[in-house]
Amino acid sequence: MNRIKILDPHIQNKIAAGEVVERPSSVVKELVENSIDADATEIEVFIVESGMKEIRIVDNGDGIQREDVPLVFERHATSKIAVDYDLFELRSLGFRGEALASIGAVAKVTLETMNMESSPVRMQFEGGKTVSNTPGKERKGTDIKISDLFYNTPARYKYVRSLRTEAGKIIDIIQRMALNYPDIRFRLTIDHKERLRTKGNGRLKEVISDIYGLHIARKAVAVHAETPDFKIDGYIVRPEETRSNRNYINLAVNRRHIKNFKLSQSIINGYHTLQPKDKYPIVVMNITMDPKLVDVNVHPSKIEVRFSKEQDLNRLVEDTVRTYLREEMLIPDVEQKP
Ligand code: ADP
Ligand code: MG
Repeated sequence: MNRIKILDPHIQNKIAAGEVVERPSSVVKELVENSIDADATEIEVFIVESGMKEIRIVDNGDGIQREDVPLVFERHATSKIAVDYDLFELRSLGFRGEALASIGAVAKVTLETMNMESSPVRMQFEGGKTVSNTPGKERKGTDIKISDLFYNTPARYKYVRSLRTEAGKIIDIIQRMALNYPDIRFRLTIDHKERLRTKGNGRLKEVISDIYGLHIARKAVAVHAETPDFKIDGYIVRPEETRSNRNYINLAVNRRHIKNFKLSQSIINGYHTLQPKDKYPIVVMNITMDPKLVDVNVHPSKIEVRFSKEQDLNRLVEDTVRTYLREEMLIPDVEQKP
C-alpha cells in the first residue's frame, strides 16, 4: 500500500488550474479582473489564435511592488484579503489568490510591472518555475503576456483547440466588463483586428451604443431604485427590441457580472406580456448591496452567487422593471439621443 503524502505545490497548481483556468476565456477574465482591482482606467487586451497562442493584457493600474512579484505565482497569495471575515466583506473582484498560480502552471508568462513605490520588474515564469527576474521598463501599471496556454497539459490543449467558440466568449467577457465599468477605457484586439473599443468616459449609455449599436442605445431607458438593502442602476431596452436568448440580460452585483436564473426571471417577469414567451429583453443592470448580503465564494469562477435576502431582491427587480416600462409605454416612442 502506498503511503499518503502532500502533493508538491507544482502539482497542486496544475490541479487547481483545471478549475480556475478552464479555457482561454477564463484566463482573460481573471487577468482583466486583476487590472480592474488594481484601479486601472485603461485596459488593452490582445488575443492571438483564440488565446491559445497568446493573451496579453496591458493596464495602467497600480502595478506590483518589486518584492511581491515572485509571490504572485504562489497559490493563495493575494493582496486583497487578509483575515477570514474579509471573505464576507469582499470589495474586489479577486480574492482567491489562485489565478496567476494556476496560469503560471500551465503556460509561459511574461510579467512586466511597475508600482510607483518601487522599481520596474520583468519576470518570466514557465510551467510553474521562474525563468528570469530582471529590471523592467519604466511604465506605471502591468503588462502580462500568456503564451502557449496548456502547452504542458496535452489533453486540455487538444480539447480547447477543437472549440470554435473561444473568440466569441472572450468578446462576451470584455463586453460585460465594459458595461460594468463605463469609466474604464477598454480595447480588445483579436488576431490584429480591433473588436471592441470603449471611451471610458463614465457614460453607460455610450457603452451600450458601442456594444449593441446606437439603435438599441436610443431605446434604452434609465432605471434606478433604492431600498435600505439594495440600489439598482442601469438601462432596460424598450420591449419591441427582443432577443432569442437570455444572454442580453447583463446582471452585475457590486459591478461583478453574475449569472442568476431567478434574477433574470424577475427581469423577464417585469416585461410581462410586453414580450412574447420565447423572446428575451436587452438589459444592463447593476445591483449595489452590502457585500455581507452576497456570497461570491460559491464556485472558483465567482460567477454564481448566493443572496441572503433573495426574495426581497427578486421582487424589487421585477417591480422596478415593471414600473419603468409602464411609464415608458405611456410615452410615445420618440427617439432620444444617447
Ligand atoms: P487574486 O486576484 O485572487 O488576489 P491572482 O492570482 O489573480 O489572485 O493575483 C495575485 C496577486 O497579484 C493579486 O492579489 C495582486 O496583488 C497581484 N496582481 C495580479 N495582477 C495584477 C495587476 N494587473 N495589477 C496589479 N496587481 C496585480
Ligand atoms: Mg485575480
